Amino acid sequence: MSVSGIVYLVGAGPGDAGLLTLRGKELLERAEVVIYDGLVSRELLRFAPPSAEVIYGGKHDRTRCVSQAELNALLLAKAMEGKRVVRLKGGDPFVFGRGGEEAEVLAAAGIPFEVVPGVSSVHSVPCYAGIPLTHRHHASSVTIVTGHDAPSAGGRASSRAQTSLNPSKVRAREDARPPIEISATSADSPGAVGALRPTDAVDWAGLAKVPGTLVVLMGLKNIQAIAATLIEHGRWPDTPVAVVSRGTTGRQQTVVGTLMTIAEQASRSGISPPAVTIIGEVVNLREQLDWFEQRPLFGRRVAVTQRLDLARPLVAALRERGADVLEVPATSWVPHPDRARLDKALRELESYDWILFTNPLGIDFFFERFFQVHDDLRQLGPARLGAYGPRTGQKLREWRLQPAAVAADHKTPLIIEAITKCGTVQGQRFLVLRGDSAFEKVPETLAELGAVVDVVPCYAVEPETEDLTGSAAALVEGGADWIVFASGLAIEHFHERFDLLALLSRFPGTRLAIASPTVQWALDRLGLTPAAIGKPDDAEDLVNAILKAEAAAHDAGTTNPQPWPLRDAVSLGVAAG
Ligand code: SAH
Repeated sequence: MSVSGIVYLVGAGPGDAGLLTLRGKELLERAEVVIYDGLVSRELLRFAPPSAEVIYGGKHDRTRCVSQAELNALLLAKAMEGKRVVRLKGGDPFVFGRGGEEAEVLAAAGIPFEVVPGVSSVHSVPCYAGIPLTHRHHASSVTIVTGHDAPSAGGRASSRAQTSLNPSKVRAREDARPPIEISATSADSPGAVGALRPTDAVDWAGLAKVPGTLVVLMGLKNIQAIAATLIEHGRWPDTPVAVVSRGTTGRQQTVVGTLMTIAEQASRSGISPPAVTIIGEVVNLREQLDWFEQRPLFGRRVAVTQRLDLARPLVAALRERGADVLEVPATSWVPHPDRARLDKALRELESYDWILFTNPLGIDFFFERFFQVHDDLRQLGPARLGAYGPRTGQKLREWRLQPAAVAADHKTPLIIEAITKCGTVQGQRFLVLRGDSAFEKVPETLAELGAVVDVVPCYAVEPETEDLTGSAAALVEGGADWIVFASGLAIEHFHERFDLLALLSRFPGTRLAIASPTVQWALDRLGLTPAAIGKPDDAEDLVNAILKAEAAAHDAGTTNPQPWPLRDAVSLGVAAG
């Protein structure tokens, strides 16, 4: 058999996309096929090249159960086609992720593989809940265990344990299980003949006597039996316990109680898998160290509609405040379909006195075509360069091109002012490079002043339609507390795709933010008012405007009820016994 492919079992981290390793990112960027699990942050898929084949490899998709046999066959088939396959697995591949078993399958088939460790939920989820797993004064050891099989399944939970606490109504979904089930005989379920895991592998009675911190993965649906068994076998009933669901993400939820109370509290809070349970004195440290859930926008979901690269500073600023950010770009930028006008302008660059760029992306599109036509930057000619705003000016400087005029803002008078400061425009030839639709009146104004103006589109802006990360679907299904727009065009395209008015009537608590007052006209057309307005190109200012609006709504008692339970759950009363 000739095999030239390779499989990388890559740990994707626990949910926060920032916790992928550099090696993982490097491999994703070179992947030909990506097969990802259900617990993996789909934002990571954006690192894969657009040409990569991206396949969901979790246990369930929306329409059917994906069998492990099918997944194994797929993994082997892609590798045997000679492909570089990245198998993205939640957390660390070798910690309850069945990465070991997948690697065995690959080894048996003679397929080369590499395993890239990941940030495991075992320690990162407690970390984001403000719980150090060890501490000089509280715990010197950590035990990690799967709670997948209830203690009672092995006959270890006593009957007293089972009746002394109310059977938990904890919602448990299939995703509490490991995302992948590999077995030597291709069995599809954990209980099937040939499954590799013994059903009674955990000595819960013994664990009750082990000092230090106990971390339970996949244990939420069995929390009642686990807690009861630990108490039964000697663990102090008041031992602090935390259950942390969807840890490290903007939807993290934490419930704190004791071994005695946790099942009831978890049940009442409605907390759902995936969750990590931490048992031990270290849980008390959360009171002081809860750094993540205390952030001012924690529990707030914010949809950002700007193009991904432009949205970066805003997304970072929002995430640093704890927001759950959905990146839903409204527009997609493509080279203008009519190349003829740009090509003509490119041939006549020498004849222009001025070249004006309307935005940074326009510069990228212009130079992409420029270097297909020319091979020397000096063929840009002697024209002076002008930028419609500071960011566009900065982009020119990144090309080592010094703009003669940079407008302080995108407003037409400011742009004209910046240009006319350099001298009269009478009789001067201008090339204005922009998209195919624009709302500024600069070319008309320059013509009125006696200039000769050619307006040439170098890109087209289309409504975005793809949803690689599932953010658009999440927005439609769950709504958002805020939707942020940075341009009027984005509002129009967003409205075309999602029907903004219908979305707002389904989720009436949603507020709108705009990144500049110049965007307002598009909301006016829809009869909508923004609740926060930022300064152009100033992510911090926009985030501060959102924070201010949040504070005002809080003071007025009109805060949007959170679409999922967060702090309420944490502060639930302790219902002991
Ligand atoms: N290999 C993974 C674990 C896979 S088993 C790792 O190293 O993290 C799946 C279990 O991991 C879930 O049932 C849950 O217990 C835990 N888990 C994974 N991601 C989680 C998250 N973001 N928040 C809480 N628990 C998580």
